[in-house]
Amino acid sequence: MKKITIVGAGRVGETVAQILAEEELCREVALLDVREDVPNGVALDIFQTSPFFHFDTQVTGSNDPAIMSGSDIIVVTAGFPRKPGMSRSDVLEANLGIIDSVCDSAVKYAPDAMMILVSNPVDVLTYRAQQRTGWGPRRVFGQAGVLDSSRMAGFIAMETGFSAHDITTIVLGGHGDTMVPLPRFCTINGIPVGHFIDEERLEQIIERTRSGGAEILALRKTSSAYDAPGAAVAAMIDSISHNRRRIMPCVVLLDGEYGESDIAMGVPCILGEKGVEDIVELDLNDKEWTMFRESVAYIRSDLEKMKEIAK
Ligand code: NAD
Repeated sequence: MKKITIVGAGRVGETVAQILAEEELCREVALLDVREDVPNGVALDIFQTSPFFHFDTQVTGSNDPAIMSGSDIIVVTAGFPRKPGMSRSDVLEANLGIIDSVCDSAVKYAPDAMMILVSNPVDVLTYRAQQRTGWGPRRVFGQAGVLDSSRMAGFIAMETGFSAHDITTIVLGGHGDTMVPLPRFCTINGIPVGHFIDEERLEQIIERTRSGGAEILALRKTSSAYDAPGAAVAAMIDSISHNRRRIMPCVVLLDGEYGESDIAMGVPCILGEKGVEDIVELDLNDKEWTMFRESVAYIRSDLEKMKEIAK
């Protein structure tokens, strides 16, 4: 991959840029931000880690959206994070205009790129970016479930003492209180997680996963999470740039899959060099369907809010 532009050189954007550079997932990482000089400073700082991490990735920064030119991927982390006590939906109004302007620049300067949305509320803003760019559902998608799944895996590792590396988890639905963790599909090196953790304790882990972002926000106080979110985005890009075709939950526009249309939300996707290559439809049981539909209802109400604001 030649070039990846990260829009928003804030906490998440900087973390993504550092990992992409270190792992040489592309030839050039570009950072774009509206704060004067800041993306240039972040880029220099990251590049100066190259002697320690032995990478040759170029890292550049600018306030000019033309820096997007020639990008294979645009990662959108621009916008306001929530503050303690806020939900992700509370930053919708502030972030909608930002996403629109980023999309317009992307269409102008990088018409062949794919776009990964991170800014919150990510389900609604992925839908919006999809509409605004007109790039199609395979090229415009969002990060939510990769992070939520990693949080659940982390909690299971803490509970059992087993390697997080061996733990497979999957979380679908919206990125918020109505996310849909699927313990039935969770394993530790192939062994169903229920073999090690009883149902009541697993339920507590699921609840902690649902409020995983809020827990970190409350502890950090002045910042929402950015280490694991940045790593989640980098993992998606790794699957794309190496065409690994990993199955990862992505926020994607549904067109009949899971019985839903005209909504973007988290479902398992095959991520390869062309972006979202396919959606995997799981055979959910009654309890899982109930959670999934609650998540759909929540996102649809946010979508209505977004349409009102956008009028
Ligand atoms: P941050 O405040 O540290 O960084 C945001 C950056 O965006 C700032 O540097 C700001 O100057 C920049 N920005 C604002 N408008 C811009 C524009 N028009 N063009 C370019 N840059 C612009 O925030 P953060 O902690 O990095 O979080 C960024 C976003 O990501 C928030 O909306 C947050 O809620 C979201 N987030 C999502 C997930 C997820 O899993 N999807 C996880 C963590 C954070």
